[in-house]
Amino acid sequence: MRFSDVIGQNELKKNIIQLVQKGHLPHAMLLLGHEGSSALPLALATAQYIMCSNKSELDSCGTCKSCSKVHSLQHPDFHVSFPAGPVEKPNTAPSEHYLPSFREFTLTQPYGNDSDWFEKIKLSGKGNISALECRSIIQRLQLRSFEAEYKIMLIWYPEYMGEQGNILLKLIEEPSDKTIILLVAENSEQLLATILSRTQLFELQRTEDQELAAFLEKQHIEPEKARHISKLAEGNIRKAIQMTGEQEDDSLLRLRNWLNALYGNRGIELSDWCTDTSTLSKENQSAFWTYVLQMLEHYLRFKIFGPQGIEFLEAEQKLIETLLKQGLSEQSIGKISEKVTECIYLIGRNANAKIVYHSLSLHIQEWILADKSRQVSMVQ
Ligand SMILES: [Zn+2]
Repeated sequence: MRFSDVIGQNELKKNIIQLVQKGHLPHAMLLLGHEGSSALPLALATAQYIMCSNKSELDSCGTCKSCSKVHSLQHPDFHVSFPAGPVEKPNTAPSEHYLPSFREFTLTQPYGNDSDWFEKIKLSGKGNISALECRSIIQRLQLRSFEAEYKIMLIWYPEYMGEQGNILLKLIEEPSDKTIILLVAENSEQLLATILSRTQLFELQRTEDQELAAFLEKQHIEPEKARHISKLAEGNIRKAIQMTGEQEDDSLLRLRNWLNALYGNRGIELSDWCTDTSTLSKENQSAFWTYVLQMLEHYLRFKIFGPQGIEFLEAEQKLIETLLKQGLSEQSIGKISEKVTECIYLIGRNANAKIVYHSLSLHIQEWILADKSRQVSMVQ
C-alpha cells in the first residue's frame, strides 16, 4: 500500500514521511484511529515506505521488490501480529497459522475491523493476542534482518493483548537497533498504561466527507450517491463501503415494511418482521437501527424546514412525506428515538432481540394511536 492509496490523513502522512527521511522515526509508534479509520492502511503504507528501495520525497515507489513484498506481507523483515483464537498445532503462533488469511484481509478489507476479521477466520469464541503470540513477537524480532535495514513489527488491535502485553514491555522500551514497532489501535483506554507510556502517539483525524466521497467515486459509485453515503457514514470508511452495497436499500425496505405493519395494525406481519430482523447479524441490526435514528432526524428537519439541505434519496423523501400525512407528532418522534437508542444498547448487551423489537413496536403503536386520537379531537 502506498500513502497515495490511503484515504485522507494528509498531515499525518507528511509527518511520518519527514520522520523517515530524517531517520527520526520513533521505535514504538501507536497509530490510533476509530473504527473504520485509515489506521491499518496507514501503518502498511508506513512499513512499505520504510522498506522501499526507491522511495521519493512523497511516497514509496510501489514497484520495487521490497514494495511488492511488503504489499503482500511476504517481506522477511516485515512481521505482523493480530488477535486470533488458539491454534491446534502445538507451539505455533496464531499469527503464523493465520498469515495467509490476514494477507488476504489486508488486500481486500484494509478498512475492516476486528469483527470482520474474526468472521473471516470463522472464530466462534473470543479472540486474543495470547502469551504464545507475544513470545513469538519477541522471537521474530530477535532474528537478524534478512534484506532490509530495518525490522518492522505491525501489531493490529493491541487492545487484545490484555495483561499479556507485559511480556512485551522490555521489547517496546528498548528494542534492538533499527527495529520499528507499529501498534494499530482503536481504543487507547484498553491498552496497558505501561505500553501506552512507551509509545509515541500518532492520532488519526476523522476522514473528511469529501475525501470519502472521492474514494467512493473511484470505486465507481455515482457522485450523488457517493456524497450521500459519505455524509451518513460520518467518517467511518468501513461503514461507507458497507453502505455502497445493497444494505442501504435493504434498510429502507425493512423500515417501510415495519411502518406498514405498525400503521396497518397487522399483528402477524409485525411478528414475522420482528423475527426476521432479529436473525440479522448483530452488526446489521445495529446498522439498521442507526439508519432508523437518522431517518427520524430527517423527519423532524423536514417537518420544520422542508426538504432543503437534507441528504436523502428520493425514495426516502417519499417515505417521510407519507409519514407526515399520518401526522406523527414531534413528541412521539422524541419517544421513538429514545426507545430505538435503548434498543441498540440492549442488542449490544445480547438481549433477546425478538422480544425487544416486539416491545418497541407495541410502544410505537400506542403513540401512533394517541397522535391520531389527538388529531381527531382537534378536528371535532
Ligand atoms: Zn519501492
